[in-house]
Amino acid sequence: MKENDKNSRRNFLANGLKLGVATATGGLVAANVLGGNKSDSETPDSGANPSGEKIKVLTEDGQLIEVDKPSNDCKISPCAPAQGEEARKGIPGRSFVMVIDLARCKNARTCISACQKGHNLAPDQEWLNVSLMKDNAESEPYWFPRQCFHCDNPPCVKVCPVGATFKREDNLVLVDADRCIGCKFCMVACPYSARVFHWEKPPEATVSKEDYSPESSVPAQTGTIGKCDFCPDRSREGKLPHCAEGCPNGAIYFGDKNEDVVSNGQETLKFKELIKERVGYRYMEELGTDPNVYYLPPVERMFDYESGFKGVSEEKRKVYEKIVKDANSNTD
Ligand code: SF4
Repeated sequence: MKENDKNSRRNFLANGLKLGVATATGGLVAANVLGGNKSDSETPDSGANPSGEKIKVLTEDGQLIEVDKPSNDCKISPCAPAQGEEARKGIPGRSFVMVIDLARCKNARTCISACQKGHNLAPDQEWLNVSLMKDNAESEPYWFPRQCFHCDNPPCVKVCPVGATFKREDNLVLVDADRCIGCKFCMVACPYSARVFHWEKPPEATVSKEDYSPESSVPAQTGTIGKCDFCPDRSREGKLPHCAEGCPNGAIYFGDKNEDVVSNGQETLKFKELIKERVGYRYMEELGTDPNVYYLPPVERMFDYESGFKGVSEEKRKVYEKIVKDANSNTD
């Protein structure tokens, strides 16, 4: 890592502390961010572990406290992915949100592989992709992860002729593959190209077809539409989505707007303060879709954009180089 990069990282962490960051072991913080029905979060030590093991949790007023570790991993009832009407309704009291810090992304692509592994997808099925962006000839390029934004005003839901895709009260837009007829209307309606058609047979899943849930999206089904689901089955267990957990740089924060808290597994922040202080924005806000994914601008970046070329194919590298060249020559 270059000296500049190290300084950027130090500055970033210092800024984070100004925002009132509480750091602790990632998974445990995530459990507190996501887990528990409302009443549970008020008494985080209910169901104490007889082993006497302790965990650190963030209270609603921002204090980091130590409590007994819960005796099981279930945070939201039911613990298993919901099915039927319950899967269409959503988790009561929750308002899920994602924040992506563009200063931390280096195209490591482990978010993509973690998502694929968790959702029983083939290597060419990407519910999350990372693009190289360069806004003008003068600015530096940066990496931009993008998936379904779980819009509050989702055009995809309006056009589905069979009600296979739906909006829930916890913000999530999900797809019921058991209902999907593969007409692709939703793919066309989505202005962000967030949906993919599953042409290929997915890898063998450990979950049987009878246990399929729109919350886990496994097993994936050929001839249907797939997309990011924000991993509500993992929220039920107090875990972060696969992509957030899979990112080695902590670029993806996930949490609950109602609790005003998000975590990347390494640190836990107040959502509103984070967006205000870091001037968070939503992609193509002018479309009026009301996305539930926010971006933090790529200032004081932790990595040079070229570090994201590592490990990509020659063909892909040429595409990236062309993006930079075209932007540099477009000086009008
Ligand atoms: Fe629908 Fe696209 Fe919005 Fe996701 S990003 S909710 S697929 S319109």
